[in-house]
Amino acid sequence: MFKNLINGEWLEGQSVSRNINPSDTRDLIGEYAQADAAQADLAITAATAAFPAWSLSTPQQRFDILDAVGAEILARRAELGDLLAREEGKTLPEAIGEVVRAGNIFKFFAGEALRPGGESLPSVRPGVGVEVTREAIGVVGLITPWNFPIAIPAWKIAPALAYGNCVVFKPADLVPGSAWALAEILSRAGLPAGVFNLVMGRGSVVGEKLLHDTRVAAVSFTGSVATGQKVAAACVSRMAKFQLEMGGKNPMIVLDDADLGVAVNAAVNSGFFSTGQRCTASSRLIVTEGIHDRFIAAMVEKMKTLKIDDARKAGTDIGPVVDASQLGQDVDYIGIAKGEGGTLAQGGERIETNADGAPGFYLTPALITGTTPEMRINREEVFGPVVSVLRARDYEHALALSNDTPFGLAAGIATTSLKHATHFKRHSQAGMVMVNLPTAGVDYHVPFGGRKGSSYGPREQGRHAAEFYTTVKTAYTQA
Ligand code: NAD
Repeated sequence: MFKNLINGEWLEGQSVSRNINPSDTRDLIGEYAQADAAQADLAITAATAAFPAWSLSTPQQRFDILDAVGAEILARRAELGDLLAREEGKTLPEAIGEVVRAGNIFKFFAGEALRPGGESLPSVRPGVGVEVTREAIGVVGLITPWNFPIAIPAWKIAPALAYGNCVVFKPADLVPGSAWALAEILSRAGLPAGVFNLVMGRGSVVGEKLLHDTRVAAVSFTGSVATGQKVAAACVSRMAKFQLEMGGKNPMIVLDDADLGVAVNAAVNSGFFSTGQRCTASSRLIVTEGIHDRFIAAMVEKMKTLKIDDARKAGTDIGPVVDASQLGQDVDYIGIAKGEGGTLAQGGERIETNADGAPGFYLTPALITGTTPEMRINREEVFGPVVSVLRARDYEHALALSNDTPFGLAAGIATTSLKHATHFKRHSQAGMVMVNLPTAGVDYHVPFGGRKGSSYGPREQGRHAAEFYTTVKTAYTQA
């Protein structure tokens, strides 16, 4: 049984959760401890006690620990990638890529521990100097979703520790294996007891405890809009700092002048790879009249070549959906879209067993054409391999459709026009904009985040992470 890490000790929980392989549901990966609120309380107590000393640790100490964690993750990429593919259903190359990303994030924030920055400037008053510095905020609660089980934990834990905070980390209940492996690496990296705590358990128990305990100075959350709203309400009620990364309904525009091959590759990659289970997935394709029919025909041809199979098998393009409940949601939305007048142009078929006869949550990627902006398929996040197509008259109409959404995480355009690419980068109401690239797949050293219903608070990743994980102090001195 895989245990929780609280105050430097591995503790059994009050119950266990079973981690099942979605590519072969007969395969039990392991049983993971589920903490109760009392154990979450212990972790917060430990983190609170560890904070004064850790917040004054040297940059060298923090660099050495984070650099070693990053190096071990990178050295074990094949093994950790295999675990990730097995528990979440990303293909092996995608899973190894995610592990490499996590390792690089730790290395990046190791360097950031050495570069806290600050300003020294003269006061407007004679003889007075002003210093502006950043300090750690305290105990941070980190709550993560199942779809990036090592990269999202890494991009919250690494900056939290780099800037001198103590961590209570609650991973997604569905996919705890990669989070546990990361915690195990951190447990041997030289961190004092209590600085980093892993508390696996239910959102309604462990998560709620982090939201409401006044010793938790800040909460960084990635997950659904519904849970994000609970995080926000709880944190506002006690004036805690919070940061939310939530859903998306990301558009990709394909203009008449697009390179057809570039457009199809970008749309297939960001719509269907990782089984469409990426917050940055392009789930709405907005295609102008002149290329619409050629583009749909090319998409359908490309989709027919995709191999849907065990996530860890060589040659698989798309693995299974993560679990039965998400699969049910994907199938439901295909039905809703058809019921509202959409046409299922390709895919959307449930496959009970893979090529080796193993039972799993397989679904062929679905393309739904002939949709209109008010349909639910164009307004609500499905979070599966289900993509809808909207027909646009011209660039201006496509731009308006792309911004007609409650979300604003990522947006893309396929075009050979510098004029339209430049205009789109400026006028898209999304936090991340891609030209002739998939909307999913981003660098680890630059800010990540969105607008409108997708995100709230400072950006994650890159140097911008300091905005959330530190607080600014202004000091005045008369010499
Ligand atoms: P979710 O909201 O169900 O769960 C996210 C986390 O919150 C889990 O750890 C869960 O246990 C916890 N939680 C649940 N209820 C809670 C409560 N009452 N209090 C505190 N914590 C609670 O989301 P999910 O299904 O795991 O993830 C999928 C969602 O995540 C999608 O909407 C996707 O778009 C989003 N996502 C966003 C980003 C981004 O950066 N914008 C990245 C990845 C995923």
